[in-house]
Amino acid sequence: MKAANSSKQLFENPFLERFSRSNAIAVIASLFGLALIIFLYGVYFRLVPLGLQILLVFVGLFAFSFFEYLIHRYVFHAGNYREGKNWQSKLHGIHHDIPSDRERLTLPMPLALGVSLVVFFLFKFLIGSLAYGFFPGFISGYALYLLIHYWIHTRKPPKNSLKVLWRNHHIHHHVDENKAYGVTTPFWDWVFRTLP
Ligand SMILES: [Zn+2]
Ligand SMILES: [Zn+2]
Repeated sequence: MKAANSSKQLFENPFLERFSRSNAIAVIASLFGLALIIFLYGVYFRLVPLGLQILLVFVGLFAFSFFEYLIHRYVFHAGNYREGKNWQSKLHGIHHDIPSDRERLTLPMPLALGVSLVVFFLFKFLIGSLAYGFFPGFISGYALYLLIHYWIHTRKPPKNSLKVLWRNHHIHHHVDENKAYGVTTPFWDWVFRTLP
């Protein structure tokens, strides 16, 4: 049994309530798996020159770090995200209420994979076969973000330069919610002057 304050009910409906919880490691592994499958599909059918495909993986990773910053700052923290029953509070307010709730550190599996596939087809529509490099990078960036965020909330900071990620995110949670929106890198906080 969990302590009463270690989790919080999001939905009245028991099915939705169960659905709103996720196994973070399983979701993260599935997203890395999806990235790998799409990458290998592109390699096998030679849809993009391999060198370009690998370069696009790094472009996708970098693009995700910017997307992560924008979404966290302008979508997750939009409006009354800490109060009420609006979707921002279900998506992110709940995490600020109980940062240590391990079952609420990622989207539920069907939603995480479903949204990722929609994003893949969107990229494919926009940039054609370049998506076989860009999407694996982008979605690996997402999985990496979820993994680092999971570690920040479940492990002690490491004794190397990565500890700054722990420090910044704890400042975001416990000192100033309008600072340190970046989880995987402080770069965009530096660019947009929200570094703590
Ligand atoms: Zn936040
Ligand atoms: Zn957090």
